[in-house]
Amino acid sequence: MIDPFGRRISYLRVSVTDRCDLRCTYCMAEDMTFLPKREVLTLEELDRLCGAFIGLGVEKIRLTGGEPLVRRNVIELVRSLGARIGTAGGLKELTITTNGTQLTKLADDLYAAGVRRINVSMDTLDPAVFKSVTRWGDLGKTMDGIFAAKAAGLAVKINAVALKGVNEGEYDRMLTWCGEHGLDLTLIETMPLGAISGDRADQYLPLSMVRSRLREHWTLEETDYRTGGPARYFTVKETGRRIGFITPMTHNFCETCNRVRLTCTGTLYMCLGQEDAADLRAPLRDPAVGEDGLRAAIEAAMLRKPKGHDFIIDRRQPAPALARHMSVTGG
Ligand code: SAM
Ligand code: SF4
Repeated sequence: MIDPFGRRISYLRVSVTDRCDLRCTYCMAEDMTFLPKREVLTLEELDRLCGAFIGLGVEKIRLTGGEPLVRRNVIELVRSLGARIGTAGGLKELTITTNGTQLTKLADDLYAAGVRRINVSMDTLDPAVFKSVTRWGDLGKTMDGIFAAKAAGLAVKINAVALKGVNEGEYDRMLTWCGEHGLDLTLIETMPLGAISGDRADQYLPLSMVRSRLREHWTLEETDYRTGGPARYFTVKETGRRIGFITPMTHNFCETCNRVRLTCTGTLYMCLGQEDAADLRAPLRDPAVGEDGLRAAIEAAMLRKPKGHDFIIDRRQPAPALARHMSVTGG
């Protein structure tokens, strides 16, 4: 699939649920209303839709959410997608972004299904800060999940959102901790998605600043490792692990964008930072539309992929740039 700007779309991110067992302050409001079940695609429908994308050239799928691993029987979808890895014209990689709370239960099953790498979100090493950022999370549970994933054979990358005045003083410690446990680390700038309580401009911390502070203590070596997304990666000479910086606000990454995002209701967003979307649930559920019709709907959507996003965090404009929460589109 080639979009109007010549970009090859080979990466699909799928939000398998909008629900979550945590309520990270930058991601969700405390009293979120979640989607009624009938609106949400069944696991079989998600599998069929992913199959259509794979047939059109998608090589990498990331399951996300909400919290993907709290969806009941999600492992069945993981197994079914995992079975497509390595087949001719099939999937090359299946990955997951998770908050880690279910990993002690599911890590072995994920590995057995063909998953080899996961991202686990953990913004801090301080249990009290973790509790306040996630509103009720238990850091020990997430850490146990990370260790279970490592023991199962999964490569783990830690995702941490950079939050001014919250985890700002912890990045040196987190780099050391990741080095000790053989983990990569990615720092993420807050994005203006969804109404949350508090003022997002107060949380925004430009990673350019974080990077130059880190350079006072660490040697960050340039790498040409790229994922087609907004992350830039460096090798930390002292630990041998990678550190990534996801900087949608300070760096424009759209020229090499290779991805689209599917929500659990079958809505396809061609860009994380734009409202335009295509409804794939209607053709998926319409018995008169066969596989060819579904593929045609996906191909038509690709032609609408915009050139780039227009994120802006502005102190004079407290409303989010996009009303949609990250948990809807999937991070
Ligand atoms: N629940 C899973 C997790 O936390 O990893 C997967 C979904 S979560 C929405 C995916 C990623 O998006 C997480 O790393 C999270 O920290 C990040 N995220 C959520 N809201 C964000 C925001 N407003 N700005 C930047 N990153 C955000
Ligand atoms: Fe849940 Fe992930 Fe959002 Fe935190 S970032 S509330 S864990 S979906």
